[in-house]
Amino acid sequence: MIIEALDAGAGQYPVVVIGTGFGSLFFVHRLLDLGLGGPILMLERGAFRSWDEQLADGRNSNPPPQDTFIASGKPKQWNFTIGYGGGTNCWYATTPRLHPNDFRLKTLYGRGQDWPISYETLEPYYTIAEEIMDISGPDDLNIITPRSRPYPQPQHKFSAVDQVMKRAQPDRHFGLPTARARVANKQRPQCCASFRCDLCPVGAKFTALNGLAHIMQHPDVHVLLEAEVLELQRSGSTSISSIRFRHAGREQSVGCDICVLGANAIHSPAILLRSGIEDPLTGRGLNEQLGYAVEVLLDGLQNFDGSTISTGANYSLYDGPFRAEHGAAIMVFDNRFPFGLRQEFGRWRETLAISIALEEELLDENRVTIDREGRPVVHFERHSPYAETGIERTLRRLPEVLSPLPVEDIKFKGVRKTESHLQGTLRMGSSRDDSVVDHGQVHHDIRNLIVVGTSTMPTCPAVAPSLTAAAMSLRAADLAFGKRT
Ligand SMILES: Cc1cc2nc3c(=O)[nH]c(=O)nc-3n(C[C@H](O)[C@H](O)[C@H](O)COP(=O)(O)OP(=O)(O)OC[C@H]3O[C@@H](n4cnc5c(N)ncnc54)[C@H](O)[C@@H]3O)c2cc1C
Ligand code: SF4
Repeated sequence: MIIEALDAGAGQYPVVVIGTGFGSLFFVHRLLDLGLGGPILMLERGAFRSWDEQLADGRNSNPPPQDTFIASGKPKQWNFTIGYGGGTNCWYATTPRLHPNDFRLKTLYGRGQDWPISYETLEPYYTIAEEIMDISGPDDLNIITPRSRPYPQPQHKFSAVDQVMKRAQPDRHFGLPTARARVANKQRPQCCASFRCDLCPVGAKFTALNGLAHIMQHPDVHVLLEAEVLELQRSGSTSISSIRFRHAGREQSVGCDICVLGANAIHSPAILLRSGIEDPLTGRGLNEQLGYAVEVLLDGLQNFDGSTISTGANYSLYDGPFRAEHGAAIMVFDNRFPFGLRQEFGRWRETLAISIALEEELLDENRVTIDREGRPVVHFERHSPYAETGIERTLRRLPEVLSPLPVEDIKFKGVRKTESHLQGTLRMGSSRDDSVVDHGQVHHDIRNLIVVGTSTMPTCPAVAPSLTAAAMSLRAADLAFGKRT
């Protein structure tokens, strides 16, 4: 429930959660499932904005993300939502799992680092997260990302282009898993392919406001909005005793037994740095995939008859020994026309847009620091040669991958400004030398501090990260309060 202020007597909570995005909400969802006694406090910097308000205003976030940090280095857009629900509001709801080999990049290909957990460890939590979000997906994707249970919803309807690709490449071309409803459920209507998913006009995608609405209504969850966390205060060197935040124009503190930090990959490290909780990797390695787009002109094949914004995922360039030299690529086949329709009479649908996202490597110089006033400073210097080489190499292989289609021309349409997937600044790992948090997302030094969200991802696989962040949060809650896996 939303509270207007902390009760005079509420000086201490067993659990205080910072932020209300993917990482935080899935953690709290699991705590409620586990029946943890006692209230949970959620401190959220932004306001609650109903979907109608977001639609009327034409934006998710207030304040806009770029007003919450200082940019330094090369110009680079970082995209996120400050507000109740965090990135569940603005996301496009694409939900592939990571590839099992994404967890073993160092062992298999000598790049980056291995995750401290395996695909098999996370698999049961993927299925729970997919059920909570009522994901639509293809069960034959099992051959790439093995599953213990079928997808909750059937996959979206392929476009004619996907059908040709699927016939020719049954083990490489699949329906794209997504939290955009294929069939209506109690909370959401069917997706009608209207292509503006950050502000979905019909409410067809999963958000905190539909699929996890019960969290905000729960009497044991106290949500304090417009409460910006400034600092974590310590008792001794190994635990957080209280949290300092600004609410209603005044600074206050609240005590906690356990602190869960999920303020996104820019603001979570900034909070730790302001608190003097730093080790050499805190804030380092800010990253997201390097994305580009191509327009494929088709000869005689009419596109755009799929049932959602993006319908196909092609894994031809995803995994293999080449990952020793350049990043993996996921090719997402769009069912929309960002580059317009064809001009020629009768051929306006003979075109296809493909979004290609490349695996990135974490570079220390891309990082979050704070200035003298404690404001986050985002330094972006460059994309890695690992990702950049991937553009040229994958472009070269596109004609071969697209050979089942009647291709007239493939046009490179440029690198995208952002993939909207910031991650990596508080990475998880097996020791202090390679990470900030351990395999259960507990800070190596501060043992009552659990970090959730995409900031903990130790590598940057090609696919979108939020399903994985959600699954990791469910597991972190189990490890901290319930089952041990
Ligand atoms: C336009 C867009 C499209 C996207 N599409 C996809 C997609 O299709 N698939 C996918 O997997 N991902 C997608 N993403 C990315 C996805 O939104 C993020 O991966 C995800 O939200 C990260 O989760 P998180 O918990 O780390 O952070 P968030 O979800 O960003 O949550 C952080 C929370 O912390 C709060 N906060 C910040 N600072 C403070 C503070 N000082 N005190 C208190 N609270 C604070 C924020 O208000 C927010 O509620 C998209 C993002 C955008 C912007
Ligand atoms: S494609 Fe349209 S209906 Fe479907 S989730 Fe996106 S905006 Fe909503």
